[in-house]
Formats: sequence, structure tokens, C-alpha cells
Amino acid sequence: MSARWEADVDALAQSALEPASAVEDVVLPPGDGWSAVVAAGGRLRIVDVDGKQGVDALFYDADEVTNRYSNTETVIAQGETYLTTGSRLLTVNGDELMVIVADTCGRHDTMGGACAQETNVVRYGTHTRHEHTCRNVFLALAAKHDMTVRDLTHNINFFTNVPITPEGKLSFEEGISAPGKYVELQATRDTLVLISNCPQLNNPCNDFNPTPIRIVRWDRAAVDALDTPAPVA
Ligand SMILES: [Zn+2]
Repeated sequence: MSARWEADVDALAQSALEPASAVEDVVLPPGDGWSAVVAAGGRLRIVDVDGKQGVDALFYDADEVTNRYSNTETVIAQGETYLTTGSRLLTVNGDELMVIVADTCGRHDTMGGACAQETNVVRYGTHTRHEHTCRNVFLALAAKHDMTVRDLTHNINFFTNVPITPEGKLSFEEGISAPGKYVELQATRDTLVLISNCPQLNNPCNDFNPTPIRIVRWDRAAVDALDTPAPVA
């Protein structure tokens, strides 16, 4: 059982890592997917390039994908439903996958889930039945990693503003992010990350205008170099 602790929702923090030392640096159009293993000690930065763009993400222990991210374990451990700097992403077994080490947005959603054909039709009407969704993106990404629909469970919605109302309901609201805001996670163990740059058009999670994101990935060597004093010439 993990210790309870208080997340500081005002805990904005910058990263000192430079993209020049990254092993991957890509721009992902809305509706596209990305996946990779972030090696232990490495980092992943997700940049909200134009602002107010929802980014859906799934996380797995790369060595055993049934040991996957659990919003239940994560929320109980931190005693807070929103994520920011210092939040630890825990698995169904209580293992730590990644830690948010930098965040210039300040709040990310754990509760809203990923958009899907089924929920779109229920919430917004049958005319949305054939719209592209994060669930479609995740199904395609899962297949690349020998996973199926059974492996798609809790996801995080980065930059998405989903307040929980006093009545205990979820409310999709206009985003609090802005152009260039980012969140950065450091892997505690080798972590398989699946990302869908959300194409949702029916609620304000993307400001009704899905836009690109930038994904930057570093290996441990670049992160370790941050902590190593530069040699004296
Ligand atoms: Zn979506």
C-alpha cells in the first residue's frame, strides 16, 4: 500500500532538458497515434503546441503489459484526482511506472476516459457514429504491440480540463492549457506509452479545433548528464 501524500496543484516546474539531446522528437497531427518504450531513467515530454489540445495516453510495464497504469491506484496514493509535478503513475499492482517531473500546465485529467464511438453516440448523437476517436487510435497502436481491446483500460488525458462537480459528476470544460505548455515524465521502469492526439470535435477538450502536439523522448544518458557537473576545461 503506497503512502498517501498531497499533490500540489500549483506545482508548476520547468525541465532543464534540451531537445538537442533527445533520441526522438516528432510532431503528431491530431487524430494520429504514437507509441514507444521509454527506458528506465529516460524521459518523455508532451508539448501542447497550439494550446488547449487534449492528449490521451496509456501506460504499461514494458516487460509485462498486464501490469498497466491504474487511475484507481494512482488517485488513491496521491489523494487527488488531478495530476501535476510529483504525481506518480502507478500500476494495477501498485508499481511505479513514471513520475511527472515537469509541468507548465498544472493540471491533467485522470477520470474522463478516452473518446470512443460508443460514448460519442450516447453523449452527442448518432450523427457522430463515424467520427474518428482516441479508442480507434489506441486499438491500432495496441495491435502493433501484440495487445488487443482487452488491454485498453484507464488512460490519462493530458492538458484536458475535466472538473469533478460538487455533485460528483464529470464536466468537460474549456482547457486551461496554452501554446507551448508541456508535461514531462521520467520512467521509473521500462514503460510502454501509447498516445492518441485526440480528434474529438463534440466537446471543448480540444477547443473544438484539434491541433498538433510535439513528443520528445530522451534516454537515461541525457537525463543523467543533467545531474553531472560539466568538466572543468
Ligand atoms: Zn479523444
